[in-house]
Amino acid sequence: MNFNEKLESEGLEPLRATALRTLQLNLGYGCNLSCNHCHVEAGPERTEAMSREVMESSLRAFRDSPVEVMDITGGAPEGHPHYRWLVERASAAGKRLMVRTNLSAIMQKGNRDLPLLYARKGVEVVASLPCYLSENVDGQRGKGVFEDSIKALRALNMVGYGKEGSGLKLHLVYNPAGPSLPPDQATLEADYKRELKARNGIIFTGLYVITNMPIGRFSKSLESEGKLDSYMEKLSDFFNVEAAQKVMCRNSISVAWNGILYDCDFNQALGLRCLKGVPGHIDAFDYEALSRRDVLTASHCYGCAAGAGSSCTGATI
Ligand code: SF4
Ligand code: SF4
Repeated sequence: MNFNEKLESEGLEPLRATALRTLQLNLGYGCNLSCNHCHVEAGPERTEAMSREVMESSLRAFRDSPVEVMDITGGAPEGHPHYRWLVERASAAGKRLMVRTNLSAIMQKGNRDLPLLYARKGVEVVASLPCYLSENVDGQRGKGVFEDSIKALRALNMVGYGKEGSGLKLHLVYNPAGPSLPPDQATLEADYKRELKARNGIIFTGLYVITNMPIGRFSKSLESEGKLDSYMEKLSDFFNVEAAQKVMCRNSISVAWNGILYDCDFNQALGLRCLKGVPGHIDAFDYEALSRRDVLTASHCYGCAAGAGSSCTGATI
């Protein structure tokens, strides 16, 4: 049964937004890494990058509407030439500002000032670290990435991130190495906290577990290994109606590097634009219309609705 039929059988079709709390900005697909699970297929060779004009429009939408959170992602947003400018402006709105990082990008030349900038502006840091063991991280992301990630985490801890009472939030993000569902978020968070503290002296606020979406580089690699069909079956076998009701597109919107609006970063990667009837570009942002839009869903959505659910802020139930 395809995802839309499944939704229909559960009385959830069409999937409709219930709010618009988060504006997620994808600054582009350039990245210092080329991870094998990357849904946007980012890498050093990618040149797509958000213009200053699109950033201005996004800031206007954020400032002048009831949207509560700006969530900046990429690629590696640190590599964008206007990134610091955007962080300064967005933080001036006095709302919640989250930035996503692969950590190793913070250790690249010219980026080591970022932990202090984030701390000064009270930015929430969401950092991907697929394991607390170096061999697993380097296997998924490339040699030396774990060591750089630990250095970046130390730099964030040094300025107060993860420390109780500092108000500076540092969330780590786990995703499975292969075609399996992530384990229980609370149990894995306890493992990460114990192991990173004991092995590396690292502290952090919490862990988000995320399901690998069956799109982009991950889907291609599963296909080449003949595992894509069985992964899709697994996701649909674990369909959870409660998770389906809590998918992130129901309260967020994704702004692509070129200003086009998508229901989420995954639909953006697939080129699936918002359904007709709502603004298609951030220049025409309309809070009311986007808050109650119908969402465009397809088979990859099983990745958000399987097991305990998956969103950019981890399990949903
Ligand atoms: S998964 Fe993240 S760190 Fe890895 S290539 Fe994609 S954007 Fe870069
Ligand atoms: S993939 Fe996107 S559109 Fe589909 S359920 Fe997940 S967040 Fe919603």
